[in-house]
Amino acid sequence: MSSLFPTYNKWPITVQEAKGTTLIDNNGKRYLDFVAGIAVCNLGHCHPDVNEAIKNQLDKVVHVSNLFNIEGQEKVANKLVAHSSGDAVFFCNSGTEANEAAIKLIRKATGKLKIITFFQSFHGRTMGSLSATGQDKVHQGFAPLLEGFVYVPYNDCDALKSVIDGDVAAIFLEVIQGEGGVHEATREFIATINELKEKHNLLVVVDEVQTGIGRTGKPFGYQHYDLDPDIITIAKGLGNGFPVGGLIGKKHLINAFGPGSHGSTFGGNPLAMAAAYATIETIFCREFIDAVVEKGDYIFSKLQETLHSATIVKEVRGRGLMIGIECHEEVSTIISSLRENGLLVLNAGPNVIRLLPPLTVSEAEIDLAVELISLALTKVSTCK
Ligand code: PLP
Repeated sequence: MSSLFPTYNKWPITVQEAKGTTLIDNNGKRYLDFVAGIAVCNLGHCHPDVNEAIKNQLDKVVHVSNLFNIEGQEKVANKLVAHSSGDAVFFCNSGTEANEAAIKLIRKATGKLKIITFFQSFHGRTMGSLSATGQDKVHQGFAPLLEGFVYVPYNDCDALKSVIDGDVAAIFLEVIQGEGGVHEATREFIATINELKEKHNLLVVVDEVQTGIGRTGKPFGYQHYDLDPDIITIAKGLGNGFPVGGLIGKKHLINAFGPGSHGSTFGGNPLAMAAAYATIETIFCREFIDAVVEKGDYIFSKLQETLHSATIVKEVRGRGLMIGIECHEEVSTIISSLRENGLLVLNAGPNVIRLLPPLTVSEAEIDLAVELISLALTKVSTCK
């Protein structure tokens, strides 16, 4: 019997070595990895600059508490602020913690409880973040939830308008719902959010845990829209595999998080900051981001081209290198057979195959992945 809680449906793979877009298991089998630790290893596995930065820091200082000045925090925060519309950063260790910090900051800054989130959203597994998440299956067994959350259908402008009143503190959203099926916010929906923000003096929070750090072909996903969020939450890709998260907030919120209001023993730890700085130094560059856009366009057009006769496919959607292939039926067996054939992909809900390759993926790797996906989906389509 395993000594682990069985909280995950694990794949039958033990990874022994990881480099770039390749994973090698303990039997020597190689996999093309279009999961990247679920949008984490955006620079590919074991990126030399990130690994070197961690190793260098390891021999200097691993940990001091946040009672000390930590140089790396200022460096990483400066870069995050320079590439976003925020003005100050709070560091933590994960996406759910970044969202917990956002929930606390909303309450502290506004004195109000009501926060609007959306059905099929995913914001994490701690009590606040799971309460923010608009999915029953994530809530199951954990009542009572944190009070104040009101869930609304995503991209439904009228439904959103109908729940806004003077008690609402914030609208909290993913600009592309990742776990919920790779659904992108419409321009009309974002325009409605802007209108409501202006009229009712609401805070807007974007959860960029999955869409951030270059994934969608911009440093942050909200930058595809005319949107100026008050709070941006990040994690996953920030450390290329080293656990680190953060909240980026606007100037008008800075005083609400004064000394003693919030904290984390490990948040912004020197090792995490070394990994984060090396990661965003590479990703937040014009050429790197432009290449993500090009690769996204390339994989998208290849998928459109090769999947046109696969009748099982309902829609291919997404942005940059966050792509969903929605099928007319459940995709779990297709994902398992792709895995057996050496390609790792994820689901997003029961019917969507989700592709999240490292942003460093090559054209040849994209070609191979598309070939395997199109073979699998065409085969399933012709068997019907
Ligand atoms: N927010 C979003 C949009 C996510 O996709 C996730 C994880 O999948 C989280 C929050 C939670 O992040 P973590 O697992 O680091 O707590």
